[in-house]
Amino acid sequence: MQPAWAQPLVIVYFILWLTLAIGSWWLIRSQPDAASKTIWFRRSMIALVLLILAAGAPFALASGDSFGAVMFLTMFVPTAVFIAWFNIATTYFCTACKRRSRNRNLFAHTFHCPHCGHRLKPV
Ligand SMILES: [Zn+2]
Repeated sequence: MQPAWAQPLVIVYFILWLTLAIGSWWLIRSQPDAASKTIWFRRSMIALVLLILAAGAPFALASGDSFGAVMFLTMFVPTAVFIAWFNIATTYFCTACKRRSRNRNLFAHTFHCPHCGHRLKPV
């Protein structure tokens, strides 16, 4: 059950979420090369994690429960930042075919594009 003051925030949150989803998809798709696609993907991921943290902060910090605030700051924020970092660190845009791929093994020394075979890591 959400508090009454949260209703407009929830609506704004979902409008921002939809705008970010469509906007980042369109921005990344419309970039001409892999480098600019990478830049806009990273910006989109950072904007997404900021949106998620901004959505959770009012509930955690305004509830008056100090344990909730501590858990938000020590568990939720680092987890969200880690997930965003992991997505940024493992996502590649191929310079040959411009498609996106994800290397799920952070410790792999090499990674090739699964679509065309171009070497993506090490660059
Ligand atoms: Zn490729």
